[in-house]
Amino acid sequence: MPGGYFGRVLVVDLSRGVLGVETLPESAYRDVLGGYGLGVKLLYERMPTGADPLGPENILGFLPGLLTGSGVLFGGRFMVVAKSPLTGGWGDANCGGHFGPVLRSTGLDGVLVKGVAERPVTLMIDQNGASIEDAGPLWGLDTWETEERLKERTGRGAQVVTIGPAGENQSLIAAIITDGGRAAARSGLAAVMGAKRLKAVVARGRERVHLHDKETLTEVSRDYGHIFKKPSSPVSRVLFGCTKTFAPVIRVIGIKPSGPADTIIYLYKKYGTSGATAFTTEVGDAPVWNWRGVGARDFPLRQSKRVSDEAVIKYQVKNYGCRYCPVACGGIVHMDGERYQVEEAHKPEYETLAAFGPLLLNDDLETIVKVNSLCDRYGLDTISTGTVAAFAMECAEYGLIDRVLGDGVELSWGNGDAVVHLVGLIARREGIGDLLADGVKRAAERIGGEAPSFAMHAGGQELPMHDSRYEPGLGLAYAVDPTPGRHNTANGGILDAPILRTMLADKGLSPPKRYAYENKGTEFALLNRYLQVLNCAGLCMFSLVMSEPPLLDWLNAATGWGWSLEDMLEAGHRIQVLRHAFNLREGLPATGFELPPRALGRPPLEEGPLRGVTLDMEAMKRDYFNCMGYDPTGVPTPELLASLGLSTLLEDL
Ligand code: SF4
Repeated sequence: MPGGYFGRVLVVDLSRGVLGVETLPESAYRDVLGGYGLGVKLLYERMPTGADPLGPENILGFLPGLLTGSGVLFGGRFMVVAKSPLTGGWGDANCGGHFGPVLRSTGLDGVLVKGVAERPVTLMIDQNGASIEDAGPLWGLDTWETEERLKERTGRGAQVVTIGPAGENQSLIAAIITDGGRAAARSGLAAVMGAKRLKAVVARGRERVHLHDKETLTEVSRDYGHIFKKPSSPVSRVLFGCTKTFAPVIRVIGIKPSGPADTIIYLYKKYGTSGATAFTTEVGDAPVWNWRGVGARDFPLRQSKRVSDEAVIKYQVKNYGCRYCPVACGGIVHMDGERYQVEEAHKPEYETLAAFGPLLLNDDLETIVKVNSLCDRYGLDTISTGTVAAFAMECAEYGLIDRVLGDGVELSWGNGDAVVHLVGLIARREGIGDLLADGVKRAAERIGGEAPSFAMHAGGQELPMHDSRYEPGLGLAYAVDPTPGRHNTANGGILDAPILRTMLADKGLSPPKRYAYENKGTEFALLNRYLQVLNCAGLCMFSLVMSEPPLLDWLNAATGWGWSLEDMLEAGHRIQVLRHAFNLREGLPATGFELPPRALGRPPLEEGPLRGVTLDMEAMKRDYFNCMGYDPTGVPTPELLASLGLSTLLEDL
């Protein structure tokens, strides 16, 4: 008997105040799995073209991955989907924590919310049904207070996703928060939640999805899991310790470092991604000084070490892991600083440290820990907020906006106190905060003059903390992925994944090389198909950075589909084409999104490991379109659509 899914989604219309459960056929899951794969299929079928992202026709979906809650390691993720108000096209955001498995335990594979409520509401879901409840007393509370109140009311076992003041104020850089600091942050989807006046979703349940072959699934997990149980060897610790020492050498000779799996697991277990900041800044991965700087010159090791690894975990009071995670890369910090106090907040991760550290020339970790906790409480995307702060500092430097914030705080490079002040203004849309609350693209359009050249975004989405000049394949991903400016589609760690090497070898191609253009489009197209499956199965992407998860075996054990690797990759291909088709139907360019000149190396940097690099985007796109089965203008060919069973899209494209 097949398994792996309930075949049910909850459909909610907030305008009419009605809810109902709809059933889905097995073919839906075979075609696109769960998570945002199922989301894009359902939204493509149900949403009219041209819907206002902040209006009643937009559908906001909360969807666990197909394996979420099945017990597989790293299988705790859920995804939020909608038309993005940031880009005007497809929007999705991927989140860990504990909400995904609990939502699944209500007996649902997803929740779709359309309409706009008259007053603030909370959606309550358990295995016996769902209800829309008044959230008037919660409106205006931050995410921590909201979660606490709702958990007090619902009792043990409930999990909550919520927006804070930033989402209520429909800031396009707002984030949906769960578990006090895990964020579905990208694509501006918290603004969609705010526009619908949906303050929170609460889930609690006890249902378990039927698995085709539970015994095999457990056995495969056990075999795979042992690599995470081993204590790290002394060699791994020494190797990690050497990364900072040798970073300047690696920077000078320009090689692509790749540690053994054991060292990478050690890094994740001990420091989480915070362990990477000093190294990435030195070698050119982390953007510095709003993408115009050079790490070794403008934010040298003596500074970057202050916002990295040991410096960060000195505040950590305990580890934090998403459900089913054997690594627990997160942490809970407590800080009694000289200027700022933080009680029991999530540890800042790499993207946050880099966005409020080297990007702003800020080595004051106390301010970063504080800002991170504020972003979690207000519900703000830390990547976008850091980028917005960098943009504002550069605008202030050139006299395009007032240099002095309220209370005499000066918006200048390296001033972390100014950023602490700024995030509150953004969340509340006060003063300059109102200008910045919708991201750098819109702020630059309003300011005019030189401002657009300081705005680091792709299609309205702020760029992540990985420099496209360091890894050109990332630049391609930022430009052509249907949710542009995303680092989790092709980042450096994933490019080392053994599965990619296997797929390239099958095509007679050599492994990826950093700082090189050769085969970048092919690499991205191949890896992308796999990543769509990994994501839509509900696995954490870091599993792939540390190991090769038995994804195909798990899927077959859960569902009984008997898929080959090719079958699995075909599903990933279909998901990516559907996301792209959503954008094309909305009138977005098939050739992808423009990147800012700095991200392309125009003009190239004159110093440092990225000196002289200018991306040949057109060559990479040609290669990518060809490998994806698109025509040279980026439109999927009729043959591709037919082979994926998507010929009905032809009339839209
Ligand atoms: S590795 Fe980190 S982000 Fe991934 S599942 Fe584990 S705790 Fe969550």
